[in-house]
Amino acid sequence: MTYPPESSRSWANYHGHSFFCDGNGNPEEYVNKAIDLGMKTLGISSHAPVPFETDWNMLSKKVPDYLKTLMNLKDEYKEQITLLSAMEVDYIPGAMGPRNPQIIGAGLDYVVGSVHFAGTFPEGTPFSIDDSTSWFVKGIEEIFEGDIKKLVKKYFELQREMLEHQPPQIIGHVDKVRMHNRNRFFFDETSDWYLEEIRSTLKLAAEKEVVVEVNTKYFDTAEQTFPSKNHFNWMAENNIPITINSDAHNPEDLLSGFYEVAELLQNAGVNHLFQYKKKEGRFIPMPYEKDGVVW
Ligand SMILES: [Zn+2]
Ligand SMILES: [Zn+2]
Repeated sequence: MTYPPESSRSWANYHGHSFFCDGNGNPEEYVNKAIDLGMKTLGISSHAPVPFETDWNMLSKKVPDYLKTLMNLKDEYKEQITLLSAMEVDYIPGAMGPRNPQIIGAGLDYVVGSVHFAGTFPEGTPFSIDDSTSWFVKGIEEIFEGDIKKLVKKYFELQREMLEHQPPQIIGHVDKVRMHNRNRFFFDETSDWYLEEIRSTLKLAAEKEVVVEVNTKYFDTAEQTFPSKNHFNWMAENNIPITINSDAHNPEDLLSGFYEVAELLQNAGVNHLFQYKKKEGRFIPMPYEKDGVVW
């Protein structure tokens, strides 16, 4: 017997963390919550290790346990849900990326490739854009000569470099560099130079058959998505492959923002969401309604 029945609509989420990195809860709690929510597919994607210390990446020594835990859960819950093993892998030129031997060797179902680090402070500390606004300002001043435009361009350049040389299956929160715009104005998201950066990156993702996630992590708290909903119409017109991910750091957040964002995407003319099909071993476009993917 399969559950949920083939004809049902349900969501899948491919971007979520756990206590192996900076998420709360063990992977089994995410699996149980997903089953409660009627989800058919769940991917767990803890932050892959990086060659320096951070507050959120998984330690290398924890990787074997992480993989084994997911493997056991896949088997234990196979009648109820398709569990996928993944990692959110940082792209850091010369140091880490979706095609790093350690990542390839992990035998994951897929990888979410993300850029968080956009440079290095003069004293050697890696600069993450996904931190406090004051840290963001410090990075702009000390690494990018006070020029936000230089930082934003670098951020998208790094993503295009990743898409070109180490394409993942999903690109994570493609415009997260604008997250600090909600606290303070840093740059005009409608300016031509900025649209050129994000659109060329989205186009390259489509060209490389990399699925662009619409990340809903801050939808409930700030009505913010990555990429911004301002791009949804353009993405529909340009056939950018899309999926919805919540980037959950708590089991309760697995479907946070999904219903609202699905409606926004439908209204923008996005007719399909890309879903992982185990048989094909890849993401394929599937129709969806406001209340779930039509499997
Ligand atoms: Zn991320
Ligand atoms: Zn994440």
